[in-house]
Amino acid sequence: MAECTTRWYLIAVHHDATSARPVRGRFAPSPTGDPHLGNAFTALLAWVSVRAQQGVFVLRMEDLDKPRERPGAAERILRALRWLGLDWDEGPDVGGPFGPYVQSERLDLYEAAVRRLVEAGLAYECWCSRKEIAVVSAPHPGEEGPRYPGTCRTPDPTRAAARRAQGRLPSFRLRVPRGPIAFEDGVFGPQRIDVDAQVGDFVIRRADGFFAYQLAVVVDDAAMGITEVLRGEDLLSSTPRQLLLYEKLGLAPPRFLHVPLLLGPDGARLAKRHGAASLVELMERGEDPRAVCGALATLAGLARDGERLTPRDLVARWDPARLPRISLRIDPNAALFRTQVA
Ligand code: GLU
Repeated sequence: MAECTTRWYLIAVHHDATSARPVRGRFAPSPTGDPHLGNAFTALLAWVSVRAQQGVFVLRMEDLDKPRERPGAAERILRALRWLGLDWDEGPDVGGPFGPYVQSERLDLYEAAVRRLVEAGLAYECWCSRKEIAVVSAPHPGEEGPRYPGTCRTPDPTRAAARRAQGRLPSFRLRVPRGPIAFEDGVFGPQRIDVDAQVGDFVIRRADGFFAYQLAVVVDDAAMGITEVLRGEDLLSSTPRQLLLYEKLGLAPPRFLHVPLLLGPDGARLAKRHGAASLVELMERGEDPRAVCGALATLAGLARDGERLTPRDLVARWDPARLPRISLRIDPNAALFRTQVA
């Protein structure tokens, strides 16, 4: 039963307040398309928070999902963020002491982390196919897919040899402890999520060699000395998995702040079909970036309707307590856009 108690993660806030360690925050876009207003919202707030603490802002390109990558998207993201008025001290185009700042150039680090976990008995080879997992899982899989039932937790050398003989390769899964994981989010407050019950032992490296986002993001944030992760609320539920990886790898976790997502008027994630212009389109059609920045700041509770502002103007106003704690529906067609539901 001792294993079933809540695991509490006291995140680095304390540590940063009492030591001279500078705040290091980051924005980590995936180059899967043009940046939209939702990306701009997150990037802006991550930047303002870091600048308000005289910290270092890092830009990292998360390009592991090669099939979903769009040619030229990485360059367009950087161009659009600069147009909005953001800058970064370290990143793919400006370099820095913790590079490379592109995930596809850091695969050896992820491989080393997987090896360390496996050698320490904290992760294991899994020979199950997707189909086998679905068959033995609970009837109501969540959005993460079915919970992994732990079939390969205890190695079965005969089964492994048979699968190898068929030319198959294993994936690798982290051994997830029983019981909920609790942590304090800088915006949404106390969180308690049971990774074991919801996801089970999760994949850190797929059989085809693809490293899971969960693993890569932890390895990189730790290696880059990141002390503050501000990102979209959609990643709140993956934070406990990342906290487990920090623990198993013996790394210090950053402070987490999750910010609401921007949704279309129908409540679905903001997309082209809502008429949402990409940041690049807004730039190309000659919008004033200060109007866009002001509109985003209004949604974050940092500005009044219609104010034209640069990101710099927001630094003195930064207060994460003012952020709304629910997703924001906006009409991206309205001038510039209007909050419909707060
Ligand atoms: N690359 C992820 C995304 O674009 C963000 C990862 C993170 O901020 O932790 O959704």
